[in-house]
Amino acid sequence: MSPSFLRFLKFARPYWLLASGSIMCGVLKFSLALLLPGALGLVVKHVVEAELSPEQQIQKLGLILGCLIGAFLLRAPITFSRPCLGELAGNRTIFDIRTELYRHIQRLSMSYHANRRTGGTMSRLIGDINAAQGILDKGVISFSVDLLFLLGVTVFLFVLDWRLACASLVTLPMYGMAIIVLNPKMRQASTEVQSQVSEMSGEVTEKLSGLSVVLSFVREKTEELNFFLQHRSYLGKVMGKTRIQATQLASTEFLTAVGPLVVIGYGGYRVITGTLDMSEFIWFYGFISHLYLPTRRLADSSTIVQERLAAMDRVFEVFDTEPEIKDAPGARHINQVEGTIAFNEVSFSYDPDTPVLHKLSFTIKPGESVAFVGRSGAGKSTLVNLVPRFYEIDSGSIEIDGQNIQQLQLKSLRSTIGMVLQDSILFSGSIRENILYGNRNATADEMISAAKMAHVDEFVDELPNGYDTVIGERGVKLSGGQKQRISIARAFLRDPRILILDEATSSLDSHAENIIQGALEELMEGRTTLVIAHRLSTIVGCDRVVVIEDGHIVQEGDHESLIQIEGPYRALCEEQFGYVRLDFLE
Ligand code: ADP
Repeated sequence: MSPSFLRFLKFARPYWLLASGSIMCGVLKFSLALLLPGALGLVVKHVVEAELSPEQQIQKLGLILGCLIGAFLLRAPITFSRPCLGELAGNRTIFDIRTELYRHIQRLSMSYHANRRTGGTMSRLIGDINAAQGILDKGVISFSVDLLFLLGVTVFLFVLDWRLACASLVTLPMYGMAIIVLNPKMRQASTEVQSQVSEMSGEVTEKLSGLSVVLSFVREKTEELNFFLQHRSYLGKVMGKTRIQATQLASTEFLTAVGPLVVIGYGGYRVITGTLDMSEFIWFYGFISHLYLPTRRLADSSTIVQERLAAMDRVFEVFDTEPEIKDAPGARHINQVEGTIAFNEVSFSYDPDTPVLHKLSFTIKPGESVAFVGRSGAGKSTLVNLVPRFYEIDSGSIEIDGQNIQQLQLKSLRSTIGMVLQDSILFSGSIRENILYGNRNATADEMISAAKMAHVDEFVDELPNGYDTVIGERGVKLSGGQKQRISIARAFLRDPRILILDEATSSLDSHAENIIQGALEELMEGRTTLVIAHRLSTIVGCDRVVVIEDGHIVQEGDHESLIQIEGPYRALCEEQFGYVRLDFLE
């Protein structure tokens, strides 16, 4: 039994009662279908062939019919309950798996997500799990119903006449062979189709979200061609899968047609030679068709399980990815921090072959603000992302108040840090909800005062529903500056001891820029701040400047002293801010 199947069953275990109920209803329902050929045999034996008067015959016929009607009335509630119970068990299992997977995906480190397309992860969380939905209901439950039913009927036929039973069941082993040979091929084909879908959905999500780049570089034709090629490969894989499916169908259909023929031939001969009752002949013929149908379904449900397990394999693959960054055993909780940050010979690389940061050492005092400057790609964002442990360092240590961050509980470490990033990521929902994201427990007054400090109130008053105005895809579109102010308010509300600012590079108009500058200065007040600075005014406002070049610290000091001397900082300022007047500070 495949390991994925066993793992799936573990999730399904709490719902075994519902599943068993569904199996019982299924067996009952199919058994009731045997009543018709069963009754026909009884009518032949006890009514037609019996030595009775016509009145007695009609009486008996009426009795048999009455019983049949009663039994069929029972069938309706049973037919209703079978899928309801089965679907409930299946959907609850899927609900549990999806909840667990979402929790797991959130715990996976940034590097996991950075190396994968969001569309691909989405397709596992939504698509693959949906595909796995039928494993319990259409797979396990149907399989058990058919197997139990099949066993019951086979035993009955053997009791009736073992020779005829053997002859009519001779095709079953061949049937089994067809399934055994073709199912693994089917599973392989399904996996290929699923991965192609995931590939395509990742590609489309990426290209559509960056449509402006595609359009501006006039790359529509190339993208169309890429999509065409991927789509064509998908078509090929779907057709490959269809061919295997059709081969299985054709062979199983042929084998199921042979059984009744054997009954007609051999059974007919036995009736003629007087070694088989007419009623038994009728039962055999009537029952044998009921035997082949569940056998075919048995093959189908096993194929369904194979197919769905391919999707489940991909889901469990995510489960098996251990979060790279997690609490060390005995990790400590930190409550109140002073805000000293020390990097001790910190080295880091995203992949082992290309080191990004080389033995960086520096200390930031509580309340001090440090601007990290350097050319794009120098390693500034990487450096600040190490403080909340978004990535794990290769060597050295990072300490907060003298405590190695690897020995601190992630949750408490991250709660002491507030981040205002370049792209102000806001979620769909109201402005209020977005600000409260910083601190769910804040009161309405605290939220408003954070908004005021970030100058959000200035534009909120003009919006139709104030703080309850919905933003995002289906709501009001905000300008870049307004979004930044909301993300600053979010940080105010969080009130962290340590602040990480990644200043936006996109230029705003000078009015908006002044407002944001003011809000940021206020936010930095009294907090240990690491700023990836792109504006001269921000750099000048910081207590210290650290110049990074290719993952090394090449200069350190305050702006006034660094600008005076010939060196990387002055070169950078000249390059990025144009001519630097030395009397700038006077
Ligand atoms: P900066 O913020 O100074 O522009 P970054 O820290 O973003 O620089 O990048 C430093 C180096 O690390 C660059 O060479 C960049 O290509 C690489 N890099 C950044 N992010 C990743 C990532 N998620 N995976 C692999 N390499 C990355």
